[in-house]
Amino acid sequence: MDYLPVFVDLRQQPCLVIGAGEVAARKIQLLAQAGAAITVIGLTISDSVLALNQDYSLTLLQKAFAVTDIEDYRLIICATNHASLNQQVAEVAQQRNIWVNVVDNPSLCSFIFPAIIDRSPVIAAVSTGGRSPVLARLMRGKLESLLPMRLGELAQFANQFRELVKSNIANPKQRRIFWEQVLQGSIAEQVYAGQFEQARQQLQQKLSEVTPQTVGEVYLVGAGPGDPELLTFKALRLMQQADVVVYDRLVADAIVQLTRRDAEKIYAGKQRDLHSLPQESINQLLVRLAKSGKRVLRLKGGDPFVFGRGGEEIENLIAEKIPFQVVPGITAALGCAAYAGIPLTHRDHAQSCIFVTGHRKDGSIQLNWSQLVVPQQTVVIYMGLLGVATICHQLIAHGASADLPIALIQQGTTAQQQILLGTLSTLPSQLMDAPIKSPSLIIIGTVVNLHPQLR
Ligand code: SAH
Repeated sequence: MDYLPVFVDLRQQPCLVIGAGEVAARKIQLLAQAGAAITVIGLTISDSVLALNQDYSLTLLQKAFAVTDIEDYRLIICATNHASLNQQVAEVAQQRNIWVNVVDNPSLCSFIFPAIIDRSPVIAAVSTGGRSPVLARLMRGKLESLLPMRLGELAQFANQFRELVKSNIANPKQRRIFWEQVLQGSIAEQVYAGQFEQARQQLQQKLSEVTPQTVGEVYLVGAGPGDPELLTFKALRLMQQADVVVYDRLVADAIVQLTRRDAEKIYAGKQRDLHSLPQESINQLLVRLAKSGKRVLRLKGGDPFVFGRGGEEIENLIAEKIPFQVVPGITAALGCAAYAGIPLTHRDHAQSCIFVTGHRKDGSIQLNWSQLVVPQQTVVIYMGLLGVATICHQLIAHGASADLPIALIQQGTTAQQQILLGTLSTLPSQLMDAPIKSPSLIIIGTVVNLHPQLR
């Protein structure tokens, strides 16, 4: 992080603005909204600054700035066009440990202004660390449209009930769940619609219905193939409310980072990984955590029900009567196909598509080969990397054309995605001198020929 975002209480704090033009006016406005005691020094005072002086009482000094004007200010904003003056102010301020911002000159700043979305008391701030003001503005636009206009009123509303809810629901975890439901459900909608009385009644009603919760729940969530933007809204929501996260090796780090910051994170690895937990231990862990009242996020690569052992994991939960939800994710076949430009079906190439695994519990490959050698069909093989030579030979032995195109997609949908193209006869030897990264997915069929055009 180049800059630490903090929210500073500037009420009644002495702040100095040097320069009194239009740019200075925008900064003065921000400081004034935060309640600062503002001194403005400028040779000429613009109409905008004079107008601000009507609304907020500023100390306006119409004069040339001198270094001796710098007293014990909390912070200084320098908004002049004079490079040497800006430089001088920055130096003096830094010497005296006063925060300084020289407008449009990040190298002279000890703090910078973010783009602000103001739903007071809710404030969102966005910064690109001065790298791209346009990007910051675009992000602000996005957040403006996402955050309800009455979000601040929702915060005020919640604040009014904070103590009451605290005294009614002693368990912090249960209290958090209560608030999550209030702030995302129909009560929040009432506030957004300005129906404060109804919202109040509904909250009180909900509070009276709370009973102590003893068993938590498990969310079995598909995290998709790698690109965090392929998460579903539901996955993201559950990721941000779970108390503990049990994740696989296949789940990208950037995705684990999107889980609640203070959630406990447990790495469960996966089968061929030395540090992994055996499946049985994972199943037991989920049960134990849920029974201790936690909301457990079981985060899996791709989709939990596609070669993901999701079925095995929920069998135990059912036996133990633990509530759970399954959230689908984009499975590797779909993610890789889209990002590689290989449609899995196409009217000229394939009317069906089959997903198989190249890995069995005992490590051998036992596929129904003749079922895979069907014309006009795409075959997708998960976990096939180690057996790719066997797969190619067996398909040819069962009647597939040696020229049938095959693609090996490594680390699909991530920034590291690589695609190796070949045919059933060439791929095994191509692999001998290509360093292959796991995870890798195999796609076989004439649809692979579309890649150069659709990539
Ligand atoms: N449940 C997962 C699959 C787990 S099996 C899903 O629905 O995607 C693990 C196999 O998935 C890997 O061996 C590999 O074949 C495939 N895989 C998962 N993510 C992948 C990715 N980003 N790129 C290529 N293959 C991937």
